[in-house]
Amino acid sequence: MDLSFSPQEEAFRQEVRDFIAEASPLLPKNLGTPEQARRSKDEYLVWHRLLYKRGWVAPAWPKELGGAGWSVTERYIFATETAKAGMPTTLPFGLGMVGPVIYTFGNEAQKKKFLPRILSGEDWWCQGYSEPGAGSDLASLRCRAVRDGDHYIVDGQKTWTTLAQYADWIFCLVRTDPAAKKQSGISFLLIDMKSKGITVRPIVTIDGGREVNEVFFDDVEVPVENLVGEENKGWDYAKFLLGNERTNIARVGASKERIRRIRELAASVQSGGKPVLDDPKFREKLAAVEIELKALELTQMRVVANEGKHGKGKPDPASSILKIKGSEIQQTTTELLMDVIGPFAAPYDVHGDDGSNETMDWTAQIAPGYFNYRKVSIYGGSNEIQRNIITKAVLGL
Ligand SMILES: Cc1cc2nc3c(=O)[nH]c(=O)nc-3n(C[C@H](O)[C@H](O)[C@H](O)COP(=O)(O)OP(=O)(O)OC[C@H]3O[C@@H](n4cnc5c(N)ncnc54)[C@H](O)[C@@H]3O)c2cc1C
Repeated sequence: MDLSFSPQEEAFRQEVRDFIAEASPLLPKNLGTPEQARRSKDEYLVWHRLLYKRGWVAPAWPKELGGAGWSVTERYIFATETAKAGMPTTLPFGLGMVGPVIYTFGNEAQKKKFLPRILSGEDWWCQGYSEPGAGSDLASLRCRAVRDGDHYIVDGQKTWTTLAQYADWIFCLVRTDPAAKKQSGISFLLIDMKSKGITVRPIVTIDGGREVNEVFFDDVEVPVENLVGEENKGWDYAKFLLGNERTNIARVGASKERIRRIRELAASVQSGGKPVLDDPKFREKLAAVEIELKALELTQMRVVANEGKHGKGKPDPASSILKIKGSEIQQTTTELLMDVIGPFAAPYDVHGDDGSNETMDWTAQIAPGYFNYRKVSIYGGSNEIQRNIITKAVLGL
């Protein structure tokens, strides 16, 4: 099933397809597969730079700031076509998170300094929200910033910081007023990762990858000009950002592509003398997730179409539904891939003999993907927390 498009939208779809055909040979091997092993910084950026050159790197940004200026449908077409072709996605931390915060709440100097470098990929950003003891209850964060003339002095720790090992900048929630009510004493600071006093330590994940880190701040000097908006108003900006994160986290296109792959593999892998795809229980599970995905896709389009209707800086609370459903579908589809290969999932190694993953059999990539995707119901605000949000903000209970 597909939506129907106008002739202009069909022409746009063809333009996207042509672009993908031109870009594909330039991408490093293995980049587009969902169960790929770890990428280098440069590999992550190849797709970003190609999109930037074409003016397509920021579909949701306003055109006057360098965004693509696409309609909801064009954004949908782009996301669907790129996912279908197995293209990678751009990282969210600059384009999807701090960029919109800066252009919505930042001052002119910040917009001028940071936005072009986010678009070009020159600055890699990471997200410094969570701390040990401040995850779901984020407002309990303790990382401190004390004003000292034209600087803040930052002390404390962030954790689970995705890809901080590559980052040039980190956007941080810091406590600037310890005496105020939890949510009122928080500010939003932009911190140069090259600053003296920052230490990044890896956390190795269950799939053997280095995706997350601890980041320590030890008397780090941050110029006051790097404060976004008003001091002690950071919680408002943080919530705005989290709403965007939840919309982007649905990953409809990637799940569609994974389902296509499941169907293809299940048709060729045999179990008990017949293709896995012929197994009634397997088919039932696959059909159920396909229906859920279609419903999610339509909900996502509704949320995107309603953007801005909840007031400036106020995300649609329905984005919590996208987060829950999107992550459940990602987890179910990675489970289905495990069902397809059965016992062959067991012996896996994220690295080939030469330390790369180039030599891996396709089955060896399935289990790391399955383990890695256990994260999706935790990050971006756990699914239990999203249910609490829906209860209050959507159902009004
Ligand atoms: C792979 C990965 C990448 C991440 N990347 C980043 C990043 O780049 N930057 C960043 O800042 N953070 C990042 N995070 C952190 C993530 O946002 C937190 O892990 C998440 O908010 C949960 O917090 P926590 O781990 O402290 O768990 P806790 O808050 O301790 O929760 C533990 C469990 O209790 C449940 N729970 C807690 N409170 C409630 C409640 N009130 N009602 C019902 N259930 C509740 C939770 O749902 C969870 O199941 C990442 C996490 C992961 C796993």
